[in-house]
Amino acid sequence: MTETPQTFDTLLTGATILTADPTRPLLRDGCVGVRDGRIAWLDQREPEAAQVTRRIDARGHLVTPGFVNLHLHAILTMVRGIASDEGFAPSYTPGIPKGTDLTPDQARALARLGALDAMLFGSTLIGDNFVHADIGVEVMEEMGLRLAPSWRIHDVDFGRVAGGEWHFDHKIGEQTLTAAIDLHDRWKDHPRIEVNLAAHAADTCSEPFLREIADVAHQRGLRINTHLGQSTAEVDRVQERTGKSSTQVFEDAGLLNDRFLGGHCIYVTDDDIARMARAGAHVVHIPKANAASGRFAPTPKFRDAGLNMAIATDTQHGDMIELMRWALVTGRVQQGGVSDDWQPSHVFDMATINGARALGQDDQIGSLEVGKQADLVMLDIRHPHQVPQISPLGNLVHTAHGRDVRLVMVVGDILIEDGRPTKVDAEEICREAEAVSRQVWGDVGRCYWES
Ligand SMILES: [Zn+2]
Repeated sequence: MTETPQTFDTLLTGATILTADPTRPLLRDGCVGVRDGRIAWLDQREPEAAQVTRRIDARGHLVTPGFVNLHLHAILTMVRGIASDEGFAPSYTPGIPKGTDLTPDQARALARLGALDAMLFGSTLIGDNFVHADIGVEVMEEMGLRLAPSWRIHDVDFGRVAGGEWHFDHKIGEQTLTAAIDLHDRWKDHPRIEVNLAAHAADTCSEPFLREIADVAHQRGLRINTHLGQSTAEVDRVQERTGKSSTQVFEDAGLLNDRFLGGHCIYVTDDDIARMARAGAHVVHIPKANAASGRFAPTPKFRDAGLNMAIATDTQHGDMIELMRWALVTGRVQQGGVSDDWQPSHVFDMATINGARALGQDDQIGSLEVGKQADLVMLDIRHPHQVPQISPLGNLVHTAHGRDVRLVMVVGDILIEDGRPTKVDAEEICREAEAVSRQVWGDVGRCYWES
């Protein structure tokens, strides 16, 4: 039987394909055809008599959906290698450069570094939330990424939090919420961008202010991307102020629902978990940054409660492959062993389809299926650490590295090829971010490079 000739913008052939589609999770020697930014062919057979603009020989390569990294702060690349050894999140820690002190040019240089880092390791969607989000979105949009950005919203005076004082100022709340609304107004019609509201945390947002945020979220239909149960400082402060847990505070403000993304979720009680599950809220698990600060999120309990779990890199480097491994092993350490319900497939879902589900975009991204957006990653699996390929998924989670990524595609557009960015100059980005980071560390009186 002959088929009608089909046209493809790109055709990848001979690939090992992990789809994240449970109906056919693995295709060996498979073929992916992309047309108009969407997956138009996915099969072990090649389409017959196809007219192909760009053919890519993907033999010896693994193709997966693009990774969905829902919680990071690209600008905070400036604190890498230092802040995680000082005890807690940079915004709460004295003596660490603050995002609010950066000039727009400095913010631009650092946002580019954070986005490039994530993209090189295979993230096709990043949920960046921080100050200077207007600049961050501009540079990340130019780089071709899919985005779920947000402006950091709070009415606490962060300048005083680092000194141990939680002082609320309505003016700060108004400024940050207005900036968040402006960000949404500016980008709401962009096909690759879905702006969220980053209500920072229950300790840094007062209850009346959280209700204001809830009003805006409901009026505009926006998701909430927040820090939840990140530290004892947060939960103790909230308990003292309100007599409630952070989860209850969000619930009482009308924010705990299926559009709520809770980042970290380390200090949450069984009652909090039950509330989140009833609401259909999502956990954004940050296993590596949590573990680096000596903390675990109770992921086996989230799984047992039926909560949707995504993963994210936060202020650590953007390697989502390494992150899957951290999610797998930190869950197993808590369980005290290996079980059928905590396997590589579960953490692979967390890095792909679960993240898409948390954004309500799982009908468009998060798995490789005909008709979905062509957001995908191609990794070289010919390295010794990837041999043998008995279980491609097991290898991906246990032995692969972000550096194995060779090609990254978003909406059919190739952003990384042969391991290098196609739209930006990686060396220039690194040079500028290095210079800016030295300036800002110098400004706080810590010139490590002069010792
Ligand atoms: Zn964070």
